[in-house]
Amino acid sequence: MSLWLPPEDLSVDQWADKYRRLAGGLSAEAGQWRTDRTPYMREPMCAFSDPNIEEIVFVAPSQVGKSELELNIIAYIIDQDPGTILYVQPRKEDAMSFSRLRVAPMLKACDKIRDKVRDVEKKGRGATSTVLQKSFPGGMLTLVGSNSASDLSSQPVRYVIGDELDRFATSAGRDGEPWELAKRRQNTFYNRKRVAVSTPTIKGASQIEFLYTQGTRERWKTRCPRCGEYHEVRFDDIQFKAKPKRIAGKESWYVDVTGWKCPGCGEVSEEQEVKKSDSRWEAENPDAIRNNRCRSFWLGGFASPWRPWKDIIQNFCKAKKDPERLKVWKNTDVGDLWEERNTVADETELLKRAEKYPENADLPGEPGCGPLILTCGVDFQ
Ligand SMILES: [Zn+2]
Repeated sequence: MSLWLPPEDLSVDQWADKYRRLAGGLSAEAGQWRTDRTPYMREPMCAFSDPNIEEIVFVAPSQVGKSELELNIIAYIIDQDPGTILYVQPRKEDAMSFSRLRVAPMLKACDKIRDKVRDVEKKGRGATSTVLQKSFPGGMLTLVGSNSASDLSSQPVRYVIGDELDRFATSAGRDGEPWELAKRRQNTFYNRKRVAVSTPTIKGASQIEFLYTQGTRERWKTRCPRCGEYHEVRFDDIQFKAKPKRIAGKESWYVDVTGWKCPGCGEVSEEQEVKKSDSRWEAENPDAIRNNRCRSFWLGGFASPWRPWKDIIQNFCKAKKDPERLKVWKNTDVGDLWEERNTVADETELLKRAEKYPENADLPGEPGCGPLILTCGVDFQ
């Protein structure tokens, strides 16, 4: 008879606050899930339960709880609104470790769904397939890598969840973009849902940036304790002093963070004060709910409750001399796109910039001598 009971009327965040337990040792905090600890998660989770929304896009740096968002959604689907789920990671190995290290402990810790889920045994396919496929009443969770076209385009699925989209294979074999392939499998479901999550990468070449622009473009803004206006806490407005020091011959930095300078009133507030202040999502393109059925969120690194600002600034000081490290810092610590500078479209454009060297050109101070030295550099890559 329990099969005929209607599900409780809960959104994903309400479900998580009631039933989700965090396994000790794997998360920053163990025990009962509390959305209040990461308030920026509430709206993306609510959006998943909203019948007017088909796609949710979440862009954020590392260590803000992106995986927990995905796990809450998976758990909610299993318990409240079962259907087939396709979960896509950049590579099959990533999907396997997500299944072993995140999904399995999540199921183990969560009484409400633990007994519903079974590993699917497949004969002749090797032991790994059981890790990548789990069944539950009314649905199935399949975890795949973005580089396998056959896994991405076989059976119809109602839910598609993509993690780290910006690290997806650029094309899944000859069949096209992995995200598009996965999306096509949902065509027959009127109640389909997609969740795209990623750390951003390079401006103009980022898949998650493109998806974000199609949605509501919501930014997490904090109320200035001085003037009451809402602004995003950005790196440019963080006030700090940094001094280099040497520890055991290695360069290190002494960082002192003064606070955040409000771009509205120019007053500086301390970190703890800013972190306690009210924050909310503000949409730049609210019409996307009606036009594209898509809500998109972009969260900056300074919003994480677990990361002191000092930490992020210290990483900046260590990385600032090296463009490669600075790029990683910008993407994973701040959650911003990296802009390539000095980019030339192609060699014809570069050739157009060449100037004709005048015949018998004079060197400064020595009329009539012509050039004495010619230097030339070549980048072999
Ligand atoms: Zn202000």
